[in-house]
Amino acid sequence: MAIRKIVEIGDEKLRKHCKPVEKFDLRLKILLRDMADTMYENDGAGLAAPQVGILKRACVVDADGTLHELVNPEIVSREGEQEGPEGCLSVPGRAGVVRRPMKVTVKAQDAKGEPITVTGEGFLARALCHEIDHLNGVLYVDIMEREILRDEKDEDADVPATDVPADSAAQPASTPPDGEACL
Ligand SMILES: [Zn+2]
Repeated sequence: MAIRKIVEIGDEKLRKHCKPVEKFDLRLKILLRDMADTMYENDGAGLAAPQVGILKRACVVDADGTLHELVNPEIVSREGEQEGPEGCLSVPGRAGVVRRPMKVTVKAQDAKGEPITVTGEGFLARALCHEIDHLNGVLYVDIMEREILRDEKDEDADVPATDVPADSAAQPASTPPDGEACL
């Protein structure tokens, strides 16, 4: 198990258009495994290669209890629309309201280079869009409708509260909105 360091907003690596993966070798398998380890270690629901400083088109997503390893992913269809809170492991302590398709179908390759298709609805669709944006140098803060402010989380019924009462130290203040793990 290898946990890699997560690159944070302000680093140029998050702003690059990542290159397609051409070699399906041991190095790629290790990268994907390390990315999954790093995602789970940080309680994330997705992680893209540029978030660990590797400018290749690869990401991992686990938003539905299944680990998806996606190499050279492309969204081939989008349906509907959803608006909801979103956070990012590379943008710690913040959250925003982002509009995404309700359902997407993604074509990709697996670690061996075999073609795969993943269809996701709801949060899985959101996670797939978020990770593929990372491969194009796009962060959710670029496209969000608005920032979710700390005070507002307690007041706005549409956004799950994150802040814990002052007398409780159970959770750090940077925890993303409940049920919406960072991507
Ligand atoms: Zn992210």
